[in-house]
Amino acid sequence: MRRAAKLMDLNVEIEMILQNPERLIEVSVPVRMDNGCLRVFRGFRVQHNSARGPYKGGIRFHPDVDLEEIKALSAWMTMKCAVVNLPLGGAKGGVIVDPKELSIEELERLTRRYAVALAPFIGPKLDIPAPDVYTNAQIMAWITDEYSKIKGKNVFGVVTGKSLALGGSEGRIDATSQGGVYVLCKYLEDLNEDIKGQTVVIQGFGNAGSHFAKFMHGLGFKVIAVSDSKGALYCEEGLLPEKALSCKVESGLVGECELAGQSCKMISNEELLELECDILVLSALENQVTKENAANVKAKLILELANGPVSPEADVILAEKGIKVIPDILANAGGVTVSYFELVQNEANYYWDSDEVQEKLKKTMTEAWTEVFENSKKYNATYREAAFITAMKRLEEAIKLRS
Ligand code: GLU
Repeated sequence: MRRAAKLMDLNVEIEMILQNPERLIEVSVPVRMDNGCLRVFRGFRVQHNSARGPYKGGIRFHPDVDLEEIKALSAWMTMKCAVVNLPLGGAKGGVIVDPKELSIEELERLTRRYAVALAPFIGPKLDIPAPDVYTNAQIMAWITDEYSKIKGKNVFGVVTGKSLALGGSEGRIDATSQGGVYVLCKYLEDLNEDIKGQTVVIQGFGNAGSHFAKFMHGLGFKVIAVSDSKGALYCEEGLLPEKALSCKVESGLVGECELAGQSCKMISNEELLELECDILVLSALENQVTKENAANVKAKLILELANGPVSPEADVILAEKGIKVIPDILANAGGVTVSYFELVQNEANYYWDSDEVQEKLKKTMTEAWTEVFENSKKYNATYREAAFITAMKRLEEAIKLRS
């Protein structure tokens, strides 16, 4: 942010405003466990900036959540919404918990209690949470239900990322990956590069990574490796993502999958990041490429489907090596874009078909890429700096008009 602010000569007062979240909410979430004991979990919601509209951003349930992380993620959401020109601000929430250790009933009680604690601070015109790491449409359904009970009426627009049956939008489930595909294809088109034969390595095989692998394969890219948190599967000749996914669903470990007719081997996550390839897609967690391993990355292009997977120090090393990075706030903005479409549909109580969603998503993503690309040339900036410049120009205008 500071690098971009310097390049664009951002007003210092605006920079000071953007460096500080508007509101920090910390809650304790008491939950009766199945064994009768009470546990108290800690949860957060950070509302970073609302100059351009209501706060927006996901909620993650993860053992490594902490306030500093949520603060950083909330600022990213402000930038992300601004770079794709959504009339929304930025926020993020999280609970320190390993949801894999909870029963489904415990998870429901935790979610509902967290929703009650946040109820005064969220709403369709105030702050709209969504899924993030280890949260999903079921968790959104419980929050919708709990919030609606408090309000005494249905409030579908309180969260996005819901199931279709509960006011969700067509295209939301794979929106992050689809948005990344639209940006990547426009990037390759603008640089006159061919899709065919480009090799792709994907770190993270959750919602974003697995859908992305499927789309890439369908378009003619050669996906040669995928990984989850426990290991990676490397198939030099290319793999079939659908098969890898069904194997992961069955066995739980993508690295150990044996795919019929394909010669593959298990490698570590560290090795995966250093594979020779055209495109490295990072769709796991933050800080995966750091100053320790950045020098060993051999990809020509990195696409950040996760939030913050390249550390700031690594970013400088990659730029020196000539490795291009399509940054998170642009590459993964498809998720929040379809979230915005979902909110609009909820408020109007009128629902669009899949073609309409895709058409609007493609337009939003390709226009955002074009602006970032133009700004990268105008300011002699990396794509990340240019994405921040694009976002901060919009934020600067809104904040100035209001002050
Ligand atoms: N958690 C997603 C993100 O980081 C989606 C947020 C949203 O839809 O509000 O972009």
